[in-house]
Amino acid sequence: MATLSERPVHSETAGGSGVNSGRYLPIQLEHLAHNYGNRQALEDLSFEVRPAEIFGLLGPNGSGKTTLFRILSTLMVPTGGCARIQGFDAAHDPNKVRQRTGVVFQATSADLKLTVEENLKHQGHLYGLRGSRLKTSIKELLFRVGLADRARDAVDTLSGGMKRRVELAKGLIHSPAVLLLDEPSTGLDPGARRDLWLYLRMLRDQDGVSILVTTHMMEEAEHCDRLAILNQGKLVALGSPAELKSAIGGDVILFETGSEEAAALLAPRMAERFQVEPVVLGSTIRLERRDGHRFVTSVVEAFPGEIDGVSVSKPSLEDVFIQRTGHRFWAEAKEEE
Ligand code: ADP
Repeated sequence: MATLSERPVHSETAGGSGVNSGRYLPIQLEHLAHNYGNRQALEDLSFEVRPAEIFGLLGPNGSGKTTLFRILSTLMVPTGGCARIQGFDAAHDPNKVRQRTGVVFQATSADLKLTVEENLKHQGHLYGLRGSRLKTSIKELLFRVGLADRARDAVDTLSGGMKRRVELAKGLIHSPAVLLLDEPSTGLDPGARRDLWLYLRMLRDQDGVSILVTTHMMEEAEHCDRLAILNQGKLVALGSPAELKSAIGGDVILFETGSEEAAALLAPRMAERFQVEPVVLGSTIRLERRDGHRFVTSVVEAFPGEIDGVSVSKPSLEDVFIQRTGHRFWAEAKEEE
């Protein structure tokens, strides 16, 4: 915890347990912005991550996730606004932020030729940990990430999932209150993903760690307690996956028309006839409506021969994204590639 002389800027009283029992919010963004030259990568972001929650930053490629991750991990100074971790400004107090934050990048940072234990020892030294305290931490961490029996093996002999767990252990060696993970499931098989998420929940529940995960995967976002959805550097939605989906209200209906032209012509007629607000996505017309199945029958009867296919489903996180932005998640990603 901070001494009086290094008192962090007060943000707001926050409860919680374990490492996050302090008075400061684990992560707080205030009007955060970042420009690369004249390209705006982040625009006026204000939200917070609460103690002991798994918070997801979901967005397609180019939405600003990496930029925000780099600012929070003190690798980059924002051009506007402020990002605080446990009350400390990442731009002005990077060392204090680093002491309180564990960072797990996508790429392997461990030295592959060294053993798991040696890697953790070096990492511990970077944080000033030594002797029996470091030894005990390494032992405990390896046990918890399920690598106790591989401690003496070189990292390059481990599977992809095990290597990711070594990265996690490295990020946690100094018992941070906040853990940042960049696209943690990328490249992992389903079993390794499941293990990783079990471990993240354990960290949240037993140690009170606040975890921020960036992701472009909807299924990963579903595991988070709350989400910020980003699009082109702007916050487009904030809340738990269930809250965000239930805000859509009713069913999501897709009408397949066969061509973009047909969809563009049919959508306004549908809007007028049924007082709905359809969105055209290529050759598909999408809308939200309670009692979807009954509504679909009326529409198909009203426009005979003009609709090739229909689907009615409960809202997904992609539907939340479409509702807030007017376009598909992956279409956006392709434009940026
Ligand atoms: P994401 O991680 O969600 O894919 P990024 O943070 O990498 O998004 O990128 C956000 C925006 O900033 C994109 O438009 C991207 O092209 C731009 N950008 C990212 N890094 C740089 C850079 N070093 N120089 C210029 N523009 C950049």
